[in-house]
Amino acid sequence: MAAKRGKYLSFKNIIFVFAVLSFAIMIFFIAKDNITSGLNNENAENKVVKKQSFLMGTVITQQVYGANGEIAADEVVRRLEEIEKRVTLNSADSEIYMLNEMAGKGTVSLSKDTIYILSVAKKYAELSNGAFDPTVGPLVKAWGISPGSGRIPGDEEIKSLLPLIDFNDLIIDEEKLTARLEKAGQSVDLGGIAKGYAGDEAIRIYREYGIESAYINLGGNVVTLGNKPDGSPWRIGVQNPRDITGNYVGIIEVSNKTVVTSGDYERYFERDGKRYHHIIDPRTGYPSESGLISATIVCDLSIDADALSTSVFVLGLEKGMELVEKLEGVEAILITNDKNIYVSSGLEGKFNFNEKATDFKYVGKYNRQ
Ligand code: AMP
Ligand code: MG
Repeated sequence: MAAKRGKYLSFKNIIFVFAVLSFAIMIFFIAKDNITSGLNNENAENKVVKKQSFLMGTVITQQVYGANGEIAADEVVRRLEEIEKRVTLNSADSEIYMLNEMAGKGTVSLSKDTIYILSVAKKYAELSNGAFDPTVGPLVKAWGISPGSGRIPGDEEIKSLLPLIDFNDLIIDEEKLTARLEKAGQSVDLGGIAKGYAGDEAIRIYREYGIESAYINLGGNVVTLGNKPDGSPWRIGVQNPRDITGNYVGIIEVSNKTVVTSGDYERYFERDGKRYHHIIDPRTGYPSESGLISATIVCDLSIDADALSTSVFVLGLEKGMELVEKLEGVEAILITNDKNIYVSSGLEGKFNFNEKATDFKYVGKYNRQ
């Protein structure tokens, strides 16, 4: 019996040794492949760096392909920190803080970054007839809206603040790199545009490092460089405004484009069953009730997309679409409070509606009533 078992076991051992050897050989080849992939240019392109940071009050996710991915992603974090430092309202040594402190008193010297963001902000304020207004600061402060909290200012308080909201009082000298606010009590808030600029700067840095394929998401502001490494376009989901983060109403495919959404679900609090969100209508002083609950812009530059998503959200479906159709290379996906989804003419047939978003209806291209 014992001898028989011994014979049987040794046969099993042979099988075992054989299996271990084949496994080791397999591992060797896989490892060898990986070693060569570091040297082989074509495979280096596929090397991916994924980095997550918390900056500009939001989660920033980078996905960068190519040999220089790691240093490029680190450089982007440094650059975003620099931009945040210049424009934040939360620090007494930021440039925007100084500009606001000097409101009605005098001119301040600013960096090229800040002057550029202010100038683009003012341009979109003009283009949107003040629906977007960087001098909305006093109202944003009065509402103090952050996720789950805020206050409802009295009508009188809002009425007293409205005369302070006027982008014409923001005087910018692009040559001298200075700016000023005309009236005491005025203040600039770049929360609706600064992340867009940060996204553009990220793409500029990727390019500088020879990156050909990258994706960055700044709290819902997506910017893409090139295609995915396999050559296919990036697939960007449009957040379902009434579902948990990550559940989409649809997907669009883009390369070298930015996709930015403004929504009433991003930052809000509820009181007596009413939602008070963070996008203020500068004409009324209250959270915008234009009939839109989400406005997504697709275009080349993220600073434009960011300013436009806020503008269009406040303008509403008809006026918002009118503005989008007027602008070359700008497309939109707008969702109304009755849960209809409309797209601009350039996205017709390009929005892949998610059938699981059963509450919503994809109408298609918006045709003016
Ligand atoms: P976004 O999420 O890009 O639409 O930007 C919203 C943020 O922009 C708010 O949290 C405010 O800081 C600021 N903001 C609110 N209303 C306006 C407005 N009408 N124009 C410009 N900025 C605004
Ligand atoms: Mg915006």
